[in-house]
Amino acid sequence: MRNGKSMSDTEQFGQIRNERIRARQRAERRKRRRRKMWITTGIIIGCIIILFITTWQVIRFLKKGKTEPVIEEVPPPQKIVHTPPEYDVQLLSINEYSRPGNPLEEVKGVVVHYTANPGTTAQQNRDYFEGLSLSGETYASSHFVIGIEGELIQCIPCQEIAYASNERNADTIAIECCIPDETGKFSDATYQTLIHLLAWLVGRYDLDTCDIIRHYDITEKACPKYYVEYPSEWEKLKKDVSLYIEMNGTVEEPVSDTEEHE
Ligand SMILES: [Zn+2]
Repeated sequence: MRNGKSMSDTEQFGQIRNERIRARQRAERRKRRRRKMWITTGIIIGCIIILFITTWQVIRFLKKGKTEPVIEEVPPPQKIVHTPPEYDVQLLSINEYSRPGNPLEEVKGVVVHYTANPGTTAQQNRDYFEGLSLSGETYASSHFVIGIEGELIQCIPCQEIAYASNERNADTIAIECCIPDETGKFSDATYQTLIHLLAWLVGRYDLDTCDIIRHYDITEKACPKYYVEYPSEWEKLKKDVSLYIEMNGTVEEPVSDTEEHE
């Protein structure tokens, strides 16, 4: 019995030891499985992130390709009207009221005015500006005056400022237009000369038709009256300038012929 009991103890001891070994082995297997699971999960997450970034980049590239044309559009060559309408140069004498003689250093626009004096001629308006040097009643002038018959007089050289357009005197050319009646609408002859003169000035100073403005656009003064009251007529006038350039301009480089003009 003693011997038997002793054997049983040894067996028990062996069993316990074996169970412990198996438990340790099970725990190690669990540990290995868990480690493997974490590694697999990490790899899967990594793959998902890489796939997501790649897809996003591809979509971005495709979208970019659609919005930005590969070939840049070449703008059509700008046509230029090289010849101005015929005009009579009758420069004012230098005086503080109508021709200060100050340089016009840069031309960024052309301002259209009306005389607000129905029935008067270009000559009368030019002489009125000249008369200011003696009367001194106000400060006023214009580079050009267009008469009802379409006649054109230059009063101030384009290299000097005129007293016509308030704060824009410093960077614009001014054109006064005579009117036949109170409506302020330009006669056909005045209109034709104006369109030709504007077309030439746009090319001469490398401007756009949107640089042709009314006195109204600077000060909100109703000048030129008809083209303030009827904005669509003003838009038509600018379109007529574009059309004139398209019909009569050439794509040649500007030549120095403009330098012979005042
Ligand atoms: Zn004006």
